[in-house]
Formats: sequence, C-alpha cells, structure tokens
Amino acid sequence: MSSSAQIPACGVVIIGGGIMGCSIAFELARRGYVPLVLDKGPGPGAGSTSASSAIIRFNYSTPDSVKLAWESAHMWSRWAEVLGVTDDLGMARFVRTGLLVLDSPATPLRKVQQLFDDVGVPYEALSTADLHERYPSLDLGRYYPPKPVADDAFWEDNHGELIAYLNPDAGFVDDPALAAHNLMVAATAAGATFLFHTEVVGINRFDARVTGVRLSTGELVACPIVVNAAGPHSSKVNAMAGLAADRRITTRALRQEVDVLPAPQGFTIDDGGVMVTDSDLGTYFRPHLGGTIITGGVEPECDTLEWIDDADQFNDMPTAEVWEAQTTRVARRLPDIGVPVRPTGIAALYDVSSDWVPIYDRSDLDGLYLAIGTSGNQFKNAPMVGPIMADIITACEAGRDHDADPVSVMCPITGNVINLGHFSRTRPLHNTTNSVLG
Ligand SMILES: Cc1cc2nc3c(=O)[nH]c(=O)nc-3n(C[C@H](O)[C@H](O)[C@H](O)COP(=O)(O)OP(=O)(O)OC[C@H]3O[C@@H](n4cnc5c(N)ncnc54)[C@H](O)[C@@H]3O)c2cc1C
Repeated sequence: MSSSAQIPACGVVIIGGGIMGCSIAFELARRGYVPLVLDKGPGPGAGSTSASSAIIRFNYSTPDSVKLAWESAHMWSRWAEVLGVTDDLGMARFVRTGLLVLDSPATPLRKVQQLFDDVGVPYEALSTADLHERYPSLDLGRYYPPKPVADDAFWEDNHGELIAYLNPDAGFVDDPALAAHNLMVAATAAGATFLFHTEVVGINRFDARVTGVRLSTGELVACPIVVNAAGPHSSKVNAMAGLAADRRITTRALRQEVDVLPAPQGFTIDDGGVMVTDSDLGTYFRPHLGGTIITGGVEPECDTLEWIDDADQFNDMPTAEVWEAQTTRVARRLPDIGVPVRPTGIAALYDVSSDWVPIYDRSDLDGLYLAIGTSGNQFKNAPMVGPIMADIITACEAGRDHDADPVSVMCPITGNVINLGHFSRTRPLHNTTNSVLG
C-alpha cells in the first residue's frame, strides 16, 4: 500500500513526539531535513515527558554527561530566545531554586565536585554548621544505607551528621509538556510536520538500510532516515527493526511514582525552597507549584524495582506502598512536613539503559538512529539532544564511521566539547550510580 495523501513527503521520520522527538524535529527542520513526527498519543509530550519532575541539575558520574547538562541548562534559561518563536499556549519557564546534594556513600561528593571543577559548574561546599544555619528545617542526621520504612532499622538514631554541596544554578522547568509543545511550534515554523494518534507498527528495510515505517492503519511511509525517540517504548521499536536484543546496552521500561505533598515552611518556591537529592535516605524532593513539594526515589538497593515488559500495560496511579515509603523518607528529613493520608501523585515509566546513561547514536541498521534509554534523567538535556542527533545523522549520512571515529559537539554557550562516543550503543558500561542520578 502506498502512502496516504494525508501523509506528507518527508526526509526523516521521527517515532515519538515527546520532548526528545520534538527537540530533534526542531533541529533537523532548521537544517533543512523536512522531518515528520509520528506519535500514537494525543499531543506533544503526552507520554513520559508529561510526568517528568523536570529537574535541571548537573550532578552526573561522567564528564560528558555533566557537560551536556550544563550546556542544556543555559538553553533552558533563555528558552524563548533558543526557540525563536512565541507559542500561543505560553512558554515553559525555568525556575531557579538551587539543588542541595546531601553526602552519601552512594554519591560521594568529591567525585562530582571534581567533575564540576573540570567542566566549570559552580557549587558551594557546605559544612554541617552551614546547613544548620541555612536550612534549619532539615534533619541533618546520617541514616545510610536507606532501609524499607517498615523495617525497625529505619527508625534507628542517626550515626553522625551530613555535609552537602549546593548548585545555585539548578532548578526545574515548570511544565514539561508545554516545553514539548513549544518545541513543536518552533519545529513546525521551521518546516516539520506532526501527526498524532498515529502509531508505527513496523520498520521497513531493504538489505542493511531502513526504507520507511508502517502504520497501524496499514499505510507505509517511505523515508530513508528514521529516528527512534519512542521513550519507554524504545525496545519495542528496536524490535520492529529487527535490531539484536543482546547488545551490551539495552533499554527497559521501569515504573516510577512521584508523590505530591504540602510544602513545609521554608520549602515553597516563594520562600526560597531548594531542591534536595538525598541518597542518604533514598529520595529526592523539590518545591513545586501551588505550595507543594514533589518527591521520588533514587533506586536505593533496599527497594524492589518494578520493571515493565509492555509499556502499554502498567498501573499509572500512585500506590499506598510507594507513597508510604517515599513520604516517610521525606518526613524523616523534613520533620515539619504534614503527610496526607491519601496518596496524591502520578506513576509513569522511565526508559532505562543498562548503565543509566542514554543512547544517542546510529543503530546497526543504516538510516535508523536512536535517542533512547533516557533513564529518568534526560528531560534536562533535551535542548541539546536535537543538535546532537542532527550532528550524528548528518555525519553518518555523509559516510562517517561514527562507531570508529565518534563525532564531537562543541557547546556554543559554555565552550565545552562533548565526545558523542560517550552515548554510543557499543560503549563499555559506564561506571555510574546505576540509578536515576546517572
Ligand atoms: C516520573 C518521571 C520523573 C522524571 N523526572 C526527571 C527529572 O526530574 N529530570 C530529568 O532530566 N528527567 C526526568 N525524567 C526523565 C524525562 O522526563 C525523560 O527522559 C523524557 O521525558 C523522555 O522523553 P522522550 O521524548 O524520550 O519520551 P516520551 O515523552 O515518553 O515520548 C515518547 C513518545 O513516543 C510515542 N510512541 C511510542 N511508541 C510509539 C509508536 N510505536 N508509534 C508512535 N508513537 C510512539 C509515545 O506516545 C510518546 O509520546 C523523568 C521521567 C519520569 C517518568
């Protein structure tokens, strides 16, 4: 069956109109590629992007990841200028709160501070006395390792007090789905087309080259370049292309809950609330709109991870069990908080790679590219993922062997150079926290 008259001719098909697909479409359109974004959902960013805590931070385990986050943060803070358009729905806002990272053996402070020194990310080391003075509502006890809240050991006395560092330039984006919409508007103005309620069910190939995609309607969309930006459905899309599932780096969907609580005094956006990464107790929390804070987990070893085989089948409601664990951990750190009885929040999926570092790369099939494995920590990097993928696609289509001779990208604002081989599907596993912290 040939393409429907309603499906425009295109130079690139992007499967997925989340924050990643929208960013890639924007950059490719600017470079004259004529992208077509296909998404089975109702609108841009309606998948896992809409559930994102949208924290913009810089603490990662590897230099290239820190550089990527640092450059992207500068793009968020000048969002309208980066996009060059006005969206009638409004523009997503970067809210600068700062991020406090508490010391823990899971995230030794000195290792990341060394990376900050190398990359040029400002931070302030805080002693226990500094923390008492600036954040009097925080309980500064050391409780490591994190324990199940039903375990009596959870309530044992602390064994010392914490130190921390503060990244004053960290913050969050107030509406992640709106950010995707902003990108869609910019991409459309540059020549991209978006089709929603449009599901890809097959990837066509001839010999070792992709030739297009097949839709659930049976229609074929012919195209020499296809990008898998399907978020938690990434492994399903890779399977459609017949890509080997036994690679060293694979992707899997992981269910996660984010809970909403009333913010105690000192932790609302208006009274200078700071975001906190608390690997000592196994959580993170940040101020949110409406006088609330949101909290999620950082995969402490004592918690069972809920891997999902079919990204279309999972419970998207918060559960009493996870609510109790996450809110009790926050309440231990913030004793003034009031915890409502009824769970309030969301559940959604991360697309987790084998080492919690994303794959931004070509695939084993010529013409098929991958922007996947975002591991619950890549919303922040979306502004740079468009340029990164466009550089990889342009180089590979011109015949460069990106596997043997990886492309590098110069960060225009911060001046750092990122080696994109870091995000290769063929890399040795990176030494990371093996958690959402990357
Ligand atoms: C609960 C939660 C909290 C998070 N918090 C943070 C955070 O604080 N900071 C941070 O940096 N990152 C965070 N992340 C991660 C970040 O949100 C994701 O990395 C990012 O949103 C992924 O975007 P995406 O475009 O790859 O995926 P998605 O937004 O899921 O988009 C993929 C799209 O592909 C479409 N699709 C899938 N299969 C098909 C198909 N066969 N045909 C057509 N369309 C298809 C889907 O409908 C979907 O719209 C969080 C994620 C979650 C779930």
